[in-house]
Amino acid sequence: MPAPTAIVIGAGFGGLASAIRLSCKGYRVQVLDKLDAPGGRAYVHRQDGFTFDAGPTIITAPHLLEELWTLCGRKFADDITLKRMEPFYRLRFDDGSWFDYSGDEETMRREIARFNPADLPGYERFIEAADQAYRLGFEELGHKSFNRITDLLAALPSMVRMQAWESLYSMVAKYIRDPKLRIVFSFHPLLIGGNPFSVTRVYSLINTLERRWGVHWAMGGTGALVQGLVKLLEERGVDIRLNAPVTRIRVEGRRATGVVLQDGEVLDADIVVSNGDAAWTYRNLIDPHERTHWTDRRIDSRKYSMSLFVWYFGTNRRWEDVPHHMIMLGPRYKELLDDMFRKLKLTDDYSLYLHRPSATDPDVAPPGCDAFYVLAPVPHLGSGTDWQREAEGYRQKIQRTLESTVLPGLGEHIVTSRIMTPQDFHDRLWSHRGAAFGMEPVLLQSAWFRPHNHSEDVRNLYMVGASTHPGAGVPGVLMSARAMAESIPEARDVRHD
Ligand SMILES: Cc1cc2nc3c(=O)[nH]c(=O)nc-3n(C[C@H](O)[C@H](O)[C@H](O)COP(=O)(O)OP(=O)(O)OC[C@H]3O[C@@H](n4cnc5c(N)ncnc54)[C@H](O)[C@@H]3O)c2cc1C
Repeated sequence: MPAPTAIVIGAGFGGLASAIRLSCKGYRVQVLDKLDAPGGRAYVHRQDGFTFDAGPTIITAPHLLEELWTLCGRKFADDITLKRMEPFYRLRFDDGSWFDYSGDEETMRREIARFNPADLPGYERFIEAADQAYRLGFEELGHKSFNRITDLLAALPSMVRMQAWESLYSMVAKYIRDPKLRIVFSFHPLLIGGNPFSVTRVYSLINTLERRWGVHWAMGGTGALVQGLVKLLEERGVDIRLNAPVTRIRVEGRRATGVVLQDGEVLDADIVVSNGDAAWTYRNLIDPHERTHWTDRRIDSRKYSMSLFVWYFGTNRRWEDVPHHMIMLGPRYKELLDDMFRKLKLTDDYSLYLHRPSATDPDVAPPGCDAFYVLAPVPHLGSGTDWQREAEGYRQKIQRTLESTVLPGLGEHIVTSRIMTPQDFHDRLWSHRGAAFGMEPVLLQSAWFRPHNHSEDVRNLYMVGASTHPGAGVPGVLMSARAMAESIPEARDVRHD
């Protein structure tokens, strides 16, 4: 009997990890992606001698990647060199002061004391609470699929004990008094599309995750991790087909039976896994009459994460005093987040994340040069912004901000440049409303309330990636692949009817 077949739509981290897991379970796997290279949000742009990772740059929880190498009988360290960052990153406030966020407890206490020594005891209590959130959210619930209501009911007592309905910012404010330190300990969910004022306090687990496993840079860039996963798949004989947009998932008798490509080609499969945005997958790839749960109405009534404006640029000089990772906070915090998440308003002020990989890895830029990207969180396309018209003006504004702060004279040194707007998240990555991180991670859109790893509507259809449980971020999507694979039987146990 030939092994059952699986089609994975999408070669993002979630899709590649799923393909490895399914291949290890004995399925014959084919990965399809609409783009001309794997990686999805972790696509790599190479231009004019510079290497720009399009998306993820902060690698945490490397053991989740190592696990995939081990599954394939390989050693992660033979293929990938990870460099631990110290400090993890710098948070720069609008008045020019900064906080170096470190994995070293002594350094952290020194940094806190520079702002407000009276907050040191509160910090210790915050750490204890974050550790508790880590045990619950990461160790206990992160890898579990929430396909059944009983999965939710089993988790409820722990959630109640933790008062999971409380927002992360409220939790931080209980322990920390200094307004700047409150930002330092609450901004993390923004890295995965969450508003610190509305995500559950369970997200304080990110703090523990980083302290426990470190913050790393993959030498060669995040693209080296993608290439590493692709190599594992190639060694297992898994076909990765690029330039292959899937426009329909075939459903017969409420079972997924394969996919249809944009050019009309039909591919059969025993199971289909979508690593595409869940809202897009349901809304655009599955006929409405096949969907009783994820109806267009339900999809449209959900809240979506913010989007991102990203400007990648290379300079013909180096800026040695700029660290690898820097968060540059604007004059407003809560109000800016309200405008972005609730009012869907593109504002004149912003907070930025400035990435300078050549600080750690000179090979990503020609000798004597720096590669950068700067990212501004912005509302998703519900804002009505015409990005084709606005993009260049917005980029210039960000350039002026950088010139007047950390990169004086920048304009004279730019030798290469490209941008990505919310419209690209929509048109290129097929993300509903151009959201960068899928549905917003609020409590009632998490765990059982998030699109299930095993489709609520279609048997043999599985969902993986940022818009499913547990959520966005490289660790999140790797865990979603594990949760998804655990809902799928071993190939030898699949009966062909
Ligand atoms: C700018 C940016 C910075 C980030 N920084 C970090 C960071 O530092 N650390 C971190 O952990 N996370 C970070 N993230 C989040 C992280 O990158 C994502 O959550 C994660 O990479 C998403 O992976 P995924 O597998 O869900 O999907 P994606 O990477 O989105 O991949 C989905 C793939 O599916 C393909 N696809 C979709 N629909 C179809 C279709 N119908 N047919 C064929 N192919 C299809 C797409 O082309 C894409 O390649 C960042 C994200 C962005 C955008």
